[in-house]
Amino acid sequence: MSDPVWIPEVLRAEGLTVREWPGWRDRGHGDFGNIWGVVAHHTGNNPPSNNPGYIANHPILGLASQLHLSREGVYTVLGAGVAWHAGEGGYPGIPTNNANQVTIGIEAENNGTEGWSPDQYWSYYAGVAAILRHLGQPAGHVIGHKEWAGAAQGKWDPGSMDMNGFRADVARQITHGGDTGMTRDEMKALVYECLEVYVGPIGSDVKDIREQLCGAGSRDSGEYAGWPQLGKNTSGSDRTAVDALGAILDQLPGAQA
Ligand SMILES: [Zn+2]
Repeated sequence: MSDPVWIPEVLRAEGLTVREWPGWRDRGHGDFGNIWGVVAHHTGNNPPSNNPGYIANHPILGLASQLHLSREGVYTVLGAGVAWHAGEGGYPGIPTNNANQVTIGIEAENNGTEGWSPDQYWSYYAGVAAILRHLGQPAGHVIGHKEWAGAAQGKWDPGSMDMNGFRADVARQITHGGDTGMTRDEMKALVYECLEVYVGPIGSDVKDIREQLCGAGSRDSGEYAGWPQLGKNTSGSDRTAVDALGAILDQLPGAQA
């Protein structure tokens, strides 16, 4: 195993949008050996520390994560070598205080309390799934920085993210996400097409029924227009089908409620 120069190709194959920061192939603190998995972070909300260029060339840390993920769900590849993102900590399967040597760091632009937009969250777990699938590792090989360094450094990122739920989404994506041969936009279009096919005629039928019961013009106006051929009800407006049925019942001996 060597440096993960395959990241852009693997992410794009998952349907993700990827930008490449100039010089990324040669940026990092030395080469990778075996890669265990991924550590997930959030950037915090203080410019410039939430920008890709700052994470690529951090004034103290140098390359501070291999990937940046924008709020819109766009990845930027910042470096292919080892990055200084994890710091001290521990987790089963990872050398103590040495996660940087065996993990890819993702810094997602987020303040940790704002929540995760659907686009950013989908891109987050789909990107992690693509990386782990390529590495031949299961969903258990992504951890939050808070799970690595919580005790050692008091880290809480990524905030507002349930890591077990995240891993479940990653697991599903590892199994099913890569075999559709479709981008996310193509999947969206397919879903909308299905909704149109299945919901469209039903919606139209419901409107037809409303018009039959409540009168011409009720279909789209939402008003109970009634039918002139059914006569007038006591308020002087055209009877609906139910008004007319009631009027008929009134005329039948012994049928009154
Ligand atoms: Zn972090």
